Amino acid sequence: MNTQRLYWIDPYVNQFKAKVESMLGRDVVLDGTYFYPQGGGQIYDTGTISGLRVVSVRREGERILHTLASEPTFQVGSEVECKLDWERRYRIMRLHSAAHLLYYTMQEEFGEECKPASPGLTDDAKSREDYLFKEKLDLQRLQRVEERVNELIKAKLNIHTWSEGETRYWKIDPYPAMLCGGTHPRNTSEIGGVKVSRGKKPGAGKERIEITLI
Ligand SMILES: [Zn+2]
Repeated sequence: MNTQRLYWIDPYVNQFKAKVESMLGRDVVLDGTYFYPQGGGQIYDTGTISGLRVVSVRREGERILHTLASEPTFQVGSEVECKLDWERRYRIMRLHSAAHLLYYTMQEEFGEECKPASPGLTDDAKSREDYLFKEKLDLQRLQRVEERVNELIKAKLNIHTWSEGETRYWKIDPYPAMLCGGTHPRNTSEIGGVKVSRGKKPGAGKERIEITLI
């Protein structure tokens, strides 16, 4: 049976009850979950199911598997109490939306060919993404990108996310919509403020850009 992806319906829910659909070893499938599975450049959530630590979450087809640190103490069919590590997840949500703001501002500053080379990775410490760069990265211009991202945060823009079939979208006005299945806050103001910096060079023709919350 498909796991209901409840984190798309309300990304702010961090405590919920669910029914155990199936188990294999320490992997648990629930009827629906607010735990985000790793994917689309966003790290998995952690937390607890029935008091047991959830150490990773992944998708396999239409099912979402929660891996526990220890053997389950419940059975298939049990109702379990689930809790996300909310402080961690909220930081991930804020950083992930900041990564979208960076995407637009990088192109405004460096031109349309300055695109991400891969989906990157956002965890609770930082967002890192490799952008295509033909020339040397000018750090003063990267400073302007940081200022612009912080302006968009201060502008208190509403963040819209929605589904069209199996596809999820993310949008702030006046920018075009982007594909994204991650979890996000409702308004850019929730991000608070960011620092944008140059990371370790990932290879020729690319620059790693990192975002941290301040
Ligand atoms: Zn995204």
